[in-house]
Amino acid sequence: MRIPSPIINALIIIVLILAIPVLAPIAMVLHDFDLRRLRAAAEKSACPACGRTLGVEALQLADELWLKHIVELRRTHPGVIFRLIRQVHAVCTHCQTNLCFCEDSKSFTKTETMEPNPATNPDAQEQTCYLVR
Ligand SMILES: [Zn+2]
Repeated sequence: MRIPSPIINALIIIVLILAIPVLAPIAMVLHDFDLRRLRAAAEKSACPACGRTLGVEALQLADELWLKHIVELRRTHPGVIFRLIRQVHAVCTHCQTNLCFCEDSKSFTKTETMEPNPATNPDAQEQTCYLVR
């Protein structure tokens, strides 16, 4: 006996809705784990350009610049849904170098193309946004 696909689809949706109370806390814990790992790496890592310790301030600077980047994208492209890949996780507070966190090596490396630092790369916004209609 074959179950009609609308019934299977409805069952899948019901199971996913019922799983939200379990999946949402797991997602929050995993996100928090990632943030802690990034902070720990930043506190231990030195900037590959100037050699100074990055620290949490470098992550905060990258977050602030990313937020400005998103606000500017929304302002200049109202109604567009973006699919963005963030490649700058830290910005050195001393030399303003954009850094990407490499999951494999658990270290920060320089990134060449990147927003969100318009001071060092004014054309970067066009390089990193992918428009989806
Ligand atoms: Zn530096």
